[in-house]
Amino acid sequence: MSRYLGAVCRLCRREREKLFLKGEKCSSNCALDKKKGKNGPGQHGILKGKVSDYSKHLREKQKARRVYGLTEEQFSHYYKVAEKMEGSTGENLLQILEMRLDNVVFRLGLASSKKMARQTVSHGNILVNKKRVNVPRYQVKIGDVITLPEKYGTSDGIKKLVAKTAMSVATPTWLSFDKDKIVGTVISKPVAGEVVYPINSQLIVEYYSK
Ligand code: SF4
Repeated sequence: MSRYLGAVCRLCRREREKLFLKGEKCSSNCALDKKKGKNGPGQHGILKGKVSDYSKHLREKQKARRVYGLTEEQFSHYYKVAEKMEGSTGENLLQILEMRLDNVVFRLGLASSKKMARQTVSHGNILVNKKRVNVPRYQVKIGDVITLPEKYGTSDGIKKLVAKTAMSVATPTWLSFDKDKIVGTVISKPVAGEVVYPINSQLIVEYYSK
């Protein structure tokens, strides 16, 4: 299945939850903050009746997939990898998703949305350990150092962005970020509860266990 290219606010309305897919616009002008936006999209958007267990599991999986901007195939691949790892499958899954390079770029405040983070990486504007990495799905490792190419890192645009996000984005404890030098370092693996969006990984495990 290809990547969704339609209106992203529709995805939040489908999940009836703010997924913060448009960066800072989500804080200032969000349809879900208005009454109209609280219904799902389309003519059948008004929620009626009891929600089945299957629906709850499916929606949680879809929510996580949308938050990280993944296709169905990519998401189920990550699930299979998480299943083979030691420990809790749900926590492993969230760890893999969080440690994607595009997510790390977003979490460091080097992009204002996940979409922008993905583009920043795929356009070759991110270095990992001083080497250009243009693969958004790249899995960072403990000790990896994330920087910007000199020309890009000294541009006024990126300096303004970092200065702005420095005020609003809290760097998670598993990353460190030097905002003056624009250098991020992976210092540990993310732990449960450090995922920005409230995702119930157990519901996702139950979805795939059916
Ligand atoms: Fe749109 Fe952002 Fe609001 Fe979602 S959270 S509905 S992407 S403005």
